Amino acid sequence: MDFELTEEQRIVQRNVHQFMVKEIEPITEQIDREDEFPPGIWEKLGDLGFLGVTVDEKYGGSGFDLLTAVLVIEQMGRTCPALAVSYGAHANLCADNLSRNANEEQKRKYLPGLCSGELVGCLALTEPNAGSDAVSIRTTARKDGDDFLLNGGKMFITNAPVGDVFLTYAKTEPDKKAKGVTAFVVEKNFPGVSVSRKLEKMGNRGSPTGEMVFEDCRVPAGNIVGKLNEGIKVMMGGLDVERAYYGGECLGIAEGAFELGLKYSKEREQFGEVICNFQMIKAKLADMYTEIEAARGLVYRAAVMADKVQRGGKGTEVHKLAAAAILFAAETATRVSNQAVQIHGGYGYMLEFPINRFYRDAKLYEIGAGTSEVRRLVIANEIISKGLEYA
Ligand SMILES: Cc1cc2nc3c(=O)[nH]c(=O)nc-3n(C[C@H](O)[C@H](O)[C@H](O)COP(=O)(O)OP(=O)(O)OC[C@H]3O[C@@H](n4cnc5c(N)ncnc54)[C@H](O)[C@@H]3O)c2cc1C
Repeated sequence: MDFELTEEQRIVQRNVHQFMVKEIEPITEQIDREDEFPPGIWEKLGDLGFLGVTVDEKYGGSGFDLLTAVLVIEQMGRTCPALAVSYGAHANLCADNLSRNANEEQKRKYLPGLCSGELVGCLALTEPNAGSDAVSIRTTARKDGDDFLLNGGKMFITNAPVGDVFLTYAKTEPDKKAKGVTAFVVEKNFPGVSVSRKLEKMGNRGSPTGEMVFEDCRVPAGNIVGKLNEGIKVMMGGLDVERAYYGGECLGIAEGAFELGLKYSKEREQFGEVICNFQMIKAKLADMYTEIEAARGLVYRAAVMADKVQRGGKGTEVHKLAAAAILFAAETATRVSNQAVQIHGGYGYMLEFPINRFYRDAKLYEIGAGTSEVRRLVIANEIISKGLEYA
């Protein structure tokens, strides 16, 4: 087992960090306040090669492995979690998913634009009445000549207000649960699709989240991703990748909050001493560090394993390992950012100190991309049905 990153991975990690510190850190407060990214951000991320990080070079991507993709989103989350949310929805939920499941024609049509930043990608699964129980979605897709007509609504869709390409799930056999779902690529200019509302969030402000409506939205049959009624394969096939990937963002949020807490503890004086000299503050710093390193171990290992399985290798424990990685990393991000606010005392509660943003941003990951409760169910069900694999 090799715990060292490769030279190439370190270079990518440094490049992303430098970009975030130089270009994004100075405007993070503005992004949070105005709930908007600066214009041209997608093209900039595309020029740097971040958008198609796991997409094959022949479609304009960088062709890196999953661990490298995790390092990219980790570094984004460390400075600006909101940018990382939008970036992840685009690069992983949409572009990476299409690169794994779309046919050749679809890949040639959509991936180059998604990799350059000309197109912004989204994943449209959740509905007002279907979140954790995703297979109970009610959006329907009815065959009409060579097309399908989509009707229904989607909720909480990251990037929807600025999105061009939506990997959308709809029921082609409404009476069947999992066996009646199909995945489609919907373009923003298809007649009948609209973003009805940009939602106001408590955190990750800047990352636009929207509600969508489909009213007889005409989608060519050629835009089915995977096979008719086999959308669940597309949905489930990437779950381990997605969980390991978003674990990387949680890790980044925890690191960013820890850095702010540590810095403040070395500057703030009370009782004639810097507060990092107090034992209770030391204990917090030690616990934060320990949890972050434990999360790193889980997330990086899950990323390596999920990548191996995606490429046809064996790895029976990856399902529960990836769920454990994001469960622990997400709760670590919440706990660490909470303690970092505590170290800041009253200043931590003030909007002018950046730590409050990490506290608000971190909470999303116990909810979005699957809740902590559902992750615990996945882990427990796997252990109960398949047992443990300690030797
Ligand atoms: C900011 C943001 C961005 C998002 N981006 C996207 C996106 O880009 N695309 C997309 O498709 N979706 C997106 N989502 C949706 C997200 O994936 C869902 O919010 C999530 O899956 C939970 O669904 P829900 O909100 O309907 O909660 P519910 O499923 O209604 O859950 C409510 C509560 O009940 C619990 N619960 C549910 N079922 C069980 C069970 N069987 N056992 C125990 N407890 C249970 C949950 O854990 C939770 O605590 C986003 C959400 C947010 C907040």
